[in-house]
Amino acid sequence: MVRGMYRSRTLKRKFTRVPSGESVIHYKRKKTSHHVCAECGALLGGIPRGTPRQIGKLSKSEKTVSRPYGGYLCAQCLKRKLIAEARAGM
Ligand SMILES: [Zn+2]
Repeated sequence: MVRGMYRSRTLKRKFTRVPSGESVIHYKRKKTSHHVCAECGALLGGIPRGTPRQIGKLSKSEKTVSRPYGGYLCAQCLKRKLIAEARAGM
């Protein structure tokens, strides 16, 4: 029996054939989920996915989109929101 941490499904399993011919399991961390728009759920561009450690090594401009609500709303939803705000203010 393998160690307890390898029995859970937290890690991804990859079956690999080794030179001796037997099949072994390599365990890998699962990828983090994509970032999506808070209104329509579309995938956000320009926002990297990775573990907090990988993201922490990036510069600020690599982590986000430099416009209002960048990294939170997609461009189409922001456009709609800004127009709606401008009309409400009149
Ligand atoms: Zn959206």
